[in-house]
Order: sequence, then C-alpha cells, then structure tokens
Amino acid sequence: MELHRVTVTPLKSNCYILKSGTDIAVVDPGGDPEKILERLAKLDGQVKFIIATHYHFDHVGALKELKESVSAPFLIHKNDVPFLDNIIPDQTLTEGDEISLGEETLQVIHTPGHTAGSICLLGDGFILTGDTLFQFSYGRTDYPGGDDFQMQQSLKRLQDILVPGMTVYPGHGLPFVIKS
Ligand SMILES: [Zn+2]
Ligand SMILES: [Zn+2]
Repeated sequence: MELHRVTVTPLKSNCYILKSGTDIAVVDPGGDPEKILERLAKLDGQVKFIIATHYHFDHVGALKELKESVSAPFLIHKNDVPFLDNIIPDQTLTEGDEISLGEETLQVIHTPGHTAGSICLLGDGFILTGDTLFQFSYGRTDYPGGDDFQMQQSLKRLQDILVPGMTVYPGHGLPFVIKS
C-alpha cells in the first residue's frame, strides 16, 4: 500500500491518501480541499472511499468539496454519526469491518475515547490512529463524546496491536515506527 500524507488546516491535521493498485482511499479530509485534490491528481487511480477516523471538523472539513469532485462514498463509525454537522455518511463502520482496497484490506479497530466513534485503520505493517494516538501523547477526552476511561481501554488494546516495526500514522504530527 502506498501512503501519502497531506497536512491540512491551521491545526495541521494529517489527511492520508492510501493507494493499492488503482484503488484509492482518502482518510480524514480535514480541510484545504484544493491541496488534497492536487495530490490526488498526481496519482493514477480512482477514489473508492472517503473515511474519517472521527467526526471532528479538522478531519471532515473538506468532505463536501472532495465528494463533489470524486463522488466516492463517505464512511465513519456509527457512534460518531450523531455528532456530524450537516453530513450524512453513505455507510457506517463498526468494529472488525474490513475495507478492501486493491488486493489489500484495512481493518476497522474501534477505539473510543477521543470520541465515541473514533477508529484506527489497521493495514499490513501500518496503522492509522486518528486522534487516538500520537507519537508522544494521546487524544484529548474533553470534547463531546469523549471518555477518559474508554480512552485508557482503547490505548491498552492498541498496545497489543502495535508490534515492533509497525508504522503509526497519527491524525496530527509525524508518522513514527514502533521500536522493539
Ligand atoms: Zn479530534
Ligand atoms: Zn484532530
């Protein structure tokens, strides 16, 4: 899987463009749609999915413009749907769902805490963690839908999933590799 990181919005959210074969998924189109579209134009592929790791505006802010340009379905965890502002998902996600991209799959890991419907996307040797896990910290739990106890449970769960050598692509900040 090819991964491209586009930094968007003044909050420097990471929008990731994942590509396998000619299939593309855009994860967390938080803003600056022209930047995302510009990067997409350089890739020879078709956008199959637009996925948000959670409902926050800095992760879905460019959704409308992006959808108008690429007309791909928008996916988000069902627990975050009530918090979305004027956005209706085409499909909702739940723990264990698999999203096929080219010959590869992304597995949905439900990691509530930052929001009720926060997800991580697990691929072969990498994981996108949204605002659940950053390199040196984890996501805040004081926004609507946040829950500190659930966050601790989710971080414990991630400890079992994160193996040495795996690359973590967080919702903000630089990607990093899990050391042994
Ligand atoms: Zn967030
Ligand atoms: Zn964020």
